[in-house]
Amino acid sequence: GPAAAMDIETFSQAITSGDRRALSRAITLIESSRADHREQAVQLIEYLKTANRQAIRIGLSGTPGVGKSTFIESFGKMLTGQGLKVAVLAVDPSSARSGGSILGDKTRMEELSRDPNAFIRPSPSRSHLGGVARRTREAVSLCEAAGFDVVLIETVGVGQSETVVAEISDVFVLLLAPAGGDELQGVKRGIMEIADIILVNKADGDLKPAATRTCSDYAGALRLLRKRPQDPEGFPKAMMVSAMQQEGLQTAWSEMTSLIGWRRDNGFFDARREDQARYWFEQEVRNGLLAQLDTPQARAMMQDYASRVAQGAITPTVAAQDLLLGLQEQT
Ligand code: GDP
Repeated sequence: GPAAAMDIETFSQAITSGDRRALSRAITLIESSRADHREQAVQLIEYLKTANRQAIRIGLSGTPGVGKSTFIESFGKMLTGQGLKVAVLAVDPSSARSGGSILGDKTRMEELSRDPNAFIRPSPSRSHLGGVARRTREAVSLCEAAGFDVVLIETVGVGQSETVVAEISDVFVLLLAPAGGDELQGVKRGIMEIADIILVNKADGDLKPAATRTCSDYAGALRLLRKRPQDPEGFPKAMMVSAMQQEGLQTAWSEMTSLIGWRRDNGFFDARREDQARYWFEQEVRNGLLAQLDTPQARAMMQDYASRVAQGAITPTVAAQDLLLGLQEQT
């Protein structure tokens, strides 16, 4: 009603004016699956679209232990030191299983979390990937409306989480650790293909020679990939950093911004966001259809048809057609 509409307006203004508690509350709202919360969340996101603000969205993936939190701490502090506002979000589908969550640990990114120009939000626990994806997309748009210049979206490379992050971000960064010996790490080809920049971390001290080797191995592997139209010469590229010693971070940032600048100038930046919007629309449709199968009535119908199919009373094809028609009639 009108009262709710008024609340949304006040709420939106608090968010766009940089009120961090309002931003936190808004993210809590979008994480809720309660129907009334969902409705408010959708209204809020719609309302905030008029703020029309855009951040640089950087996806960051890497297995546990490669130094993601150390990197985010150093890189984030470097950016806030340059006067930029930085938000950090996590996509962690594994937290449902492990109980813990990335970014959940209080000791991670201790300094950055106290930085007034940084905002860190842990991944919600107990959520399936579809829910995490939607929540993260919506949280990104909230952070953009709140005026953040850079949104870092972190994920451990579990299951499809890299795809989710790549489909949300403007630039996708893969963080790797130096490989032991001459061996290339078992990095899946798929993730190499979506990476824009590979950062070999821990290029310091005793690990420097291994990092140098690993970096040139990946640079070689990247050169073998087919050149993508959305990339300028030299991308995707591999480079070395030391999150701990804070080395190579400015260069990494320059590479990210020059890639984004090139894509903007050549129409690929907007095209990527348009493709992503299309992708997420299709995902929402798919999820919506699957949700229709997830009601008690639908499950009962499924069981009923399934046993008739098993008895040979009806063919699987006809049963499926009948069931889908039946579901349509219900809605
Ligand atoms: P995450 O699990 O990917 O978030 O990794 P962490 O940031 O927690 O780092 C895992 C371990 O690697 C910690 O012991 C860090 O101190 C160490 N580490 C992270 N970055 C560097 C680095 O640049 N150089 C070195 N030598 N160690 C690092």
